[in-house]
Amino acid sequence: MANQKGGVGKTTTVINLSAYLADSGKRVLAVDIDPQGNTTTGLGIDKSACETSIYDVLLDEAPVMTAVQATQVPSLHVLPATMDLAGAEIELTQVPDRERQLTRVLAPIVPRYDFVFVDCPPSLGLLTLNALTAADGVIIPIQCEFFALEGLSQLLSTIDLVKRDVNTRLVLDGVLLTMFDGRTNLAQQVAEEVRNHFGSQVFRAVIPRTVRLSEAPSYGQPISRYDPRSKGAVLYADLAKEVLEHA
Ligand code: ADP
Ligand code: MG
Repeated sequence: MANQKGGVGKTTTVINLSAYLADSGKRVLAVDIDPQGNTTTGLGIDKSACETSIYDVLLDEAPVMTAVQATQVPSLHVLPATMDLAGAEIELTQVPDRERQLTRVLAPIVPRYDFVFVDCPPSLGLLTLNALTAADGVIIPIQCEFFALEGLSQLLSTIDLVKRDVNTRLVLDGVLLTMFDGRTNLAQQVAEEVRNHFGSQVFRAVIPRTVRLSEAPSYGQPISRYDPRSKGAVLYADLAKEVLEHA
């Protein structure tokens, strides 16, 4: 899940898409590589109690299995991030093949899962580069607001560079419209513009802007637990179905 813009719904999508896929019986791992650790908290993990996190794993200070934690959703695991990950961006520059570090450390556990989602930080730095290098595909959430498309060409050219130089199998899995408010013309316009540009690569499910989706993480719950009948829940469940069709 990548977009160097902050606040576009990357984390919310990783949490809820992972939870619905796990509910459908898939084995899912959510990898948090954002030092803010919002995916970690949003899935009910107490960061202050995390003895081992992705930071230790990326720097080869702990085997990946010691950091993976179960969540309240059976078959959904999380590889948590804490604030110290902010330092990894600098510390990793000393490591040879530094953009392949995530690929390397995840390799032993990837076969245990049907889906692995990586929640990227809001930058195109080394952590995002590691995620794009490790991934088979990238999902780009786009907020249906003004400036939504700003920076998108930079993201797409980064994806092309990664594809050319380090990860030839990387594909654009899809573009996800998020925080859609159907009452505004602006949201309609942005959605239309994105569809004109990306065509069938845009997921049919459009995530609405709803308070319930923004409340759920403060209870450490995916929307499937917090309010499964809400509009946002229904659309994230639809998105999970679409992802299963594509897979
Ligand atoms: P990112 O990971 O791209 O920075 P987040 O998923 O953290 O974005 O979302 C940014 C903020 O917007 C968070 O406070 C989140 O709870 C809220 N949010 C995300 N999606 C929605 C939505 N569909 N409706 C309302 N609030 C949302
Ligand atoms: Mg985030």
